[in-house]
Amino acid sequence: MKISSKKIQPMCHICGRNDGTKKYGVGAAGQQRYYCMNCGKTFQTTYIYKGKEFNIAAQVEMLWERSHTVEEISTALQVPLVKVKAVVTLLEKDNV
Ligand SMILES: [Zn+2]
Repeated sequence: MKISSKKIQPMCHICGRNDGTKKYGVGAAGQQRYYCMNCGKTFQTTYIYKGKEFNIAAQVEMLWERSHTVEEISTALQVPLVKVKAVVTLLEKDNV
């Protein structure tokens, strides 16, 4: 499943903010890189596509534990919202 990433401002993977990220060239393998003006770090998003389901779940869990909303997580990880919600539902079951 492909989703358009046009005009989506991703959340910084380091500090979790998305109000200061901008495109910052591409990585060696052609990944889009971003620069975060809030923490001064660069990060890239497309490696997530290469990960397995487990990796997506782990990243959703990390952001969820930082109190981000499912909408924010979906945008940050560029994972469909329904997928994020499915992972979060499992997390909430585990925590009860
Ligand atoms: Zn940052």
